Amino acid sequence: MGRLVTTDGLTDIQQEILKTVRDFVDKEILPVATELEHKDEYPQAIVDGLKELGLFGLTIPEEYGGLGESLLTYALVVEEIARGWMSVSGVINTHFIVAYMLMHHGTEEQKQKYLPRMATGEVRGAFSMSEPSLGSDVSAVATKATKQDDGSYSITGQKMWLTNGGSSNLVAVLTKTDEGADSVYKNMTTFLIEKEPGFGETAQGITVPGKIDKMGYKGIDTTEMILEKHQISADQILGGEPGKGFYQMMDGVEVGRVNVGARAVGIANRAFELGIAYAQQRETFGKPIAQHQAILFRLAEMGTKVETAHAMVVRAARKKDAGERNDVEAGMAKMVASEYCNEVVEASFRIHGGYGYSKEYEIERLYREAAFMLIGEGTSDIQKMIIGRSLLKDYKLR
Ligand SMILES: Cc1cc2nc3c(=O)[nH]c(=O)nc-3n(C[C@H](O)[C@H](O)[C@H](O)COP(=O)(O)OP(=O)(O)OC[C@H]3O[C@@H](n4cnc5c(N)ncnc54)[C@H](O)[C@@H]3O)c2cc1C
Repeated sequence: MGRLVTTDGLTDIQQEILKTVRDFVDKEILPVATELEHKDEYPQAIVDGLKELGLFGLTIPEEYGGLGESLLTYALVVEEIARGWMSVSGVINTHFIVAYMLMHHGTEEQKQKYLPRMATGEVRGAFSMSEPSLGSDVSAVATKATKQDDGSYSITGQKMWLTNGGSSNLVAVLTKTDEGADSVYKNMTTFLIEKEPGFGETAQGITVPGKIDKMGYKGIDTTEMILEKHQISADQILGGEPGKGFYQMMDGVEVGRVNVGARAVGIANRAFELGIAYAQQRETFGKPIAQHQAILFRLAEMGTKVETAHAMVVRAARKKDAGERNDVEAGMAKMVASEYCNEVVEASFRIHGGYGYSKEYEIERLYREAAFMLIGEGTSDIQKMIIGRSLLKDYKLR
């Protein structure tokens, strides 16, 4: 391990967890990642290993059977995993967001019902806001939950881009409900929908068609979900009360943004490692290319970007762990980390010359994975809206 992506002030337990995960990544993920990715094969053995390490319960409180670790620990674990293979971090991320939403917004019954089984990985979470006609504009959600005479709900609509949509058995789904509120944001409700893992009709009124064929982020399943009069009890409303879904989801994506920032750091760190190694092996004009100043400077810029992004992710995670809102810090970290990730990966790709374009070299995979960092949990445009609006409030002229 080099000097980049280290973190001051970690506890012995955090250091121990990170070392265990790093060893797992080096031994179990890196040697097989590119092959599995090219085959678009679900990394079942790796997922089983994550379960054994207790990573599905990393942030779930000990009283519910988890390890009770912080968002910072989670983010650092994600950096390590994404350094090995970003898709693997995707397997735990939607699970982590749903567990977070349950921990912070669920009723005690809901926590008891799901968290212990989420900690073991028996229950696997996915979350669903996006629809075919919306992603950034969450307020436009059209999937409708209609209250029935007996107090239960019937949900109809189409959801899009569910990460782990096939492998999960618990999906937090954002719907529109009629609460009679004057604000669209207060007429939205999150339901905890149970279904079987797999594809086809996986619960009454729920169909998960096959996997969406993606440019990268392979291995992991990303799906649509069609709801046709899905009948669900009011007990499955997250927190027990309708009308709070938008705010619950936004709280969830705040931690999700730290996670995508962390994934971007992991990918960028790996691209840097590959680039600096290659630059010392490849010779042109009688010397290793690292000794050409253009390459040396490129490496310096890459290392600086990795380090900056890591520092911003750590700061955003620590702010949330301190119980504060981190919308600005998470937005900044996500934006900087994802943009830098793409720049670092491209720089490493250039260092690899023609070989970077060959599927035999890992950088080809990273190149495709980095692009998703620009989209997931909100694009840079959306982060700029969040950051800019918040700064305007803070710096309002009196
Ligand atoms: C592989 C993958 C996995 C995903 N997993 C999930 C998941 O698990 N759950 C889930 O709910 N969603 C998921 N998503 C959806 C993802 O969150 C959205 O794709 C993302 O938020 C962007 O939304 P969109 O695709 O609808 O783009 P749009 O919102 O249509 O945006 C299109 C373009 O317009 C820009 N734009 C939009 N509005 C503005 C504005 N006001 N000002 C300036 N520019 C703007 C955007 O930045 C973008 O460049 C996933 C997406 C992918 C690709």
